[in-house]
Amino acid sequence: DMSNTALQEYYAELSKSYQDFQAQNLKLDMSRGKPCTEQLDLSADLLDCLSKSDYKASNGTDCRNYGGIDGIPEAKKLLSWILDAKPEEIIIGGNSSLNLMHDLLSRAMLHGLPESEMPWCKLPKVKFLCPSPGYDRHFAICQHLGIEMIRVNYQDDGPDMDQVESLVAADSAIKGIWCVPKYSNPTGIIYSDAVVKRLAAMPTKAPDFRIFWDNAYSVHHLTDTPDTLLNILPTCDAAGHPDRVFEFASTSKITFPGAGIAMLASSPKNINWLKKQLNIQTIGPDKLNQLRHVRFFKNEAGIKALMKQHAAIIKPKFNLVLDILESELGGKYIASWSKPQGGYFISLDTLPGCAKEIVAKAEAAGVLLTPAGATYPYGRDPEDKNIRLSPTFPPLSELRLAMELVVLCVKLVSTEHELA
Ligand code: PLP
Repeated sequence: DMSNTALQEYYAELSKSYQDFQAQNLKLDMSRGKPCTEQLDLSADLLDCLSKSDYKASNGTDCRNYGGIDGIPEAKKLLSWILDAKPEEIIIGGNSSLNLMHDLLSRAMLHGLPESEMPWCKLPKVKFLCPSPGYDRHFAICQHLGIEMIRVNYQDDGPDMDQVESLVAADSAIKGIWCVPKYSNPTGIIYSDAVVKRLAAMPTKAPDFRIFWDNAYSVHHLTDTPDTLLNILPTCDAAGHPDRVFEFASTSKITFPGAGIAMLASSPKNINWLKKQLNIQTIGPDKLNQLRHVRFFKNEAGIKALMKQHAAIIKPKFNLVLDILESELGGKYIASWSKPQGGYFISLDTLPGCAKEIVAKAEAAGVLLTPAGATYPYGRDPEDKNIRLSPTFPPLSELRLAMELVVLCVKLVSTEHELA
């Protein structure tokens, strides 16, 4: 509602505040969803919870030695809870679920999946559906392997299923879809039961179509009354597509991102196929780390209690970011943002055409954000409006400063566009 003169004056004020920020020579990083030091400290006992004489799994396996391609029984039993799967449906990997996803797609390209007529790399084209905004590293794997990415819109309860269903029914080159079904990176949404059922039941032209169900944040709640996600494994089975889904998770943001445990769940057919492939790749994963995690967690209640301690540390950071967004940008019609109930991110939407400039301005004044566009395939946000905010890593005092600068940059760039 401002007159042009008032807008000019407002712009001059904002520019002055921005220069003041620049003079502070800040060096703050809000670019990646990493746990902070206090969160890592919660798992300090993991480092010495095994003794010299404690190296045997429940089935007598000496965890110091080779073997155990799919994990030790007690780790499979405990960690299958995170995936909402049965112990026999899971394979325990190394320290990174992204690694499992990358290798699985590479295997499909090199060798094909159980129902593939030929390795995917021999096909003229391979395509993946990428609900967006989504996780940049999923998109990077596709780009790296030459898999064409098709952008699909996200709605409040999952991908636009009308769009998904019509695409997969028509094109046999579409071999899969990326999904972060709970506290999605970056939008924080949870897929509704209806969306899970449609994904499980939809006819696909490719017989070897797969859902890459990255359940990275399944136990990462910020409230005491979390929403539930429909279990996709039995839902696919009941819909007559038992082999459709590969589900992934890890303890990266439960214990240590650099030294956690990754896991994968799927149908018996997929698991048997994958075990054969894994046997060529490795003689077995780090079973001592599995045993260590079992001793440290003890049981499901141990994981739940730890996740509550994580929430107690990071919830105030989410609240701070949300409070600053609300008090500085609320009601101004220049931005909207997610209010996640879990996970690691807040998704900020600016006016179209502003996100790149806002991120560049923040960086020029010392605050590193995730590059604008990163949440879209090929780094191209069609409306240039989405910015991923990662509140967990910086201490509260730094986070406050960083967010004060972010909201200032949002106002500054939006005003510039209004004046242009
Ligand atoms: N999947 C999602 C959705 C993530 O946000 C992340 C990390 O931010 C990962 C996977 C990485 O998982 P990992 O550490 O197990 O490789």
